[in-house]
Amino acid sequence: MDLKEKIRVIMDFPKKGISFKDITTLLKDGEAFKIAIKSLADLVREKDFDLVAGPEARGFIIGAPLAYELGKGFVPARKKGKLPGETIKAEYKLEYGTDVLEMHKDAIEAGQKVLVVDDLLATGGTIFSTIELVERLGGIVTAVAFLIELTDLKGREYLSKYEVISLIKY
Ligand code: IMP
Repeated sequence: MDLKEKIRVIMDFPKKGISFKDITTLLKDGEAFKIAIKSLADLVREKDFDLVAGPEARGFIIGAPLAYELGKGFVPARKKGKLPGETIKAEYKLEYGTDVLEMHKDAIEAGQKVLVVDDLLATGGTIFSTIELVERLGGIVTAVAFLIELTDLKGREYLSKYEVISLIKY
């Protein structure tokens, strides 16, 4: 199956000049969703990690089924004020201003190996805050995996300290 055919591209969203890769059309197709998760799982199956971590919200949509498929635990990085226990926080840049992601302090033990996951790699700025949270808790980032990579935006170079894995490239 050509998964790219299942991803809808919407021009000029969220602003003029951007061609937005909309994965909702892939997600609603049961067979395509299953193939996408299994194929991404096959790319990371042999890597050495104990946990999968992903940022709210689309990092959950890809990260949680990926963790389940691989028999690993899942650690959510959530938006400000959502987690009930003690947390650490990392700021990340939005187009206008900043936002905060949080992770439970006891979510990761020092030395645990973590696969960090999101739906899409553009510049790499967003995923960096999740990586930062994992590392501040003493976790070791084994690799960073994405369903989609926008190669022109050079996120791979921005994340050059890490192994970057992606299933679908534009
Ligand atoms: P980055 O921080 O520049 O790498 O942007 C990646 C973040 O923006 C991810 O959390 C994506 O969900 C979101 N994003 C950026 N461009 C797109 C797109 O074309 N489709 C879907 N999400 C996007």
